[in-house]
Amino acid sequence: MRFGCALYKGGQINLRQAAYERDFRPVDEQCPCSTCARYTRAYLHSVVTVETAACHLLTVHNVCYQRPAADQT
Ligand SMILES: [Zn+2]
Repeated sequence: MRFGCALYKGGQINLRQAAYERDFRPVDEQCPCSTCARYTRAYLHSVVTVETAACHLLTVHNVCYQRPAADQT
């Protein structure tokens, strides 16, 4: 996985892009992971540029995203 990228709807989005600076949605509204529950794209954008902690947050999301839907309940 490239740093700063999050899986989304079969592809991925790069949260380092300036377009996410004022995007206050979660990475994926349908995702039940702790990152999507607590953090907005704008927050993740602000931290991926300066902190490696964001890499962990995105890993939580990406691992969750790749699990089969049957495991999510
Ligand atoms: Zn997620």
